[in-house]
Amino acid sequence: DAMSSFIYTSRAQRVVFGPGSLRGLTAELDALGLRRALVLCTPPQRAQAERVASLLGASRVAGIFDQAAMHVPIEIARQARQAAREHGADCAVAVGGGSTIGLGKAIALDSGLPVIAVPTTYAGSEMTPIYGITEAGLKKTGKDDRVLPRSVIYDPELSLSLPAAMSVTSGINALAHAAEGLYASDGNPIMDLMAQEGIRALARALPVIAGGAADEALRSARGDALYGAWLCGTVLGSVGMALHHKLCHTLGGSFNLPHAETHTIVLPQALAYNAPAAPRAMERITAALGVPNAAQGVFDLANALGAPTALREIGMREEDLDRACDIALRTPYPNPRPLDREALRALLQDAYDGTRPR
Ligand code: NAD
Repeated sequence: DAMSSFIYTSRAQRVVFGPGSLRGLTAELDALGLRRALVLCTPPQRAQAERVASLLGASRVAGIFDQAAMHVPIEIARQARQAAREHGADCAVAVGGGSTIGLGKAIALDSGLPVIAVPTTYAGSEMTPIYGITEAGLKKTGKDDRVLPRSVIYDPELSLSLPAAMSVTSGINALAHAAEGLYASDGNPIMDLMAQEGIRALARALPVIAGGAADEALRSARGDALYGAWLCGTVLGSVGMALHHKLCHTLGGSFNLPHAETHTIVLPQALAYNAPAAPRAMERITAALGVPNAAQGVFDLANALGAPTALREIGMREEDLDRACDIALRTPYPNPRPLDREALRALLQDAYDGTRPR
């Protein structure tokens, strides 16, 4: 089909990728003229953060702040900012998933302190200028170039410890960025290429990871999955997301459902909803997945790998579906298929029940 008009903006970030690439962290600080890092992590990832700190060496570490938590509570962001000030940090090194990188972003937003990200999940936050902070139970999100990590180190060895079940849902979370990027209202051909390649890499890697492969096969799949996550995260940071992300934001924010699992369950239903209005995107998804139908392909992938496929399995209450539908209809994101209340309510019911898309 003929090339239509587009605008493409690239972001200034360094990406260092590969097994063992964590050893290049000090060089990244040097390249950015940074001297002392506050290392961020969640309590369970403290050991990984300590490894990172020891690689940097005592003179380059201002401290380890190990209290990163889901949804970036403002109180924790304030404590982390204070720790950075007290210990004379001139940058933050975030070692972890979207929650930890989100804490780094919250510090950067307030202080301008540069963030270096060392992602250990596939959520993709490291490639976006989007931040989220939760205050008094409300998650406020926004976009600011100051929070975009200056440098990202993707070392697949750090993801070896990510449990298989979380790897699958986190991988499908990444896949969702690419899928929606393919029908973004502000899409462009570079992002289409990245999205297709990202989906292809994840679809190839996740079954190997979930299947309990060992040694070389596992290492290679971990590399593929992280490569896919990088591409998908770049798409997330570059073009606008649509209905699927709006629904997941609603379900996570207002009903406290877990992030990656919610994405995994909703994606096939959102793709089924948008399929009639986005045939070219569906062709690209099916080609990348190697299946005849995009929505069914994602559903079958999740199901085959033992991931949840129904919102009722992850704590959603059926009586809240109407309210979720109302919230999702408020300030909707641009979407290829117009939002129709009845159709959207049916989508939510299917997601609740875990119905395979027709
Ligand atoms: P997470 O960061 O909350 O991590 C989940 C759990 O897994 C944590 O306990 C973490 O310590 C642990 N973990 C992570 N990596 C591990 C590893 N390699 N080994 C062992 N344990 C590991 O989960 P997530 O899905 O990465 O991030 C979700 C959050 O990120 C949500 O709040 C979401 O809104 C946000 N997010 C933001 C953006 C953005 O662009 N701003 C993008 C994606 C996600």
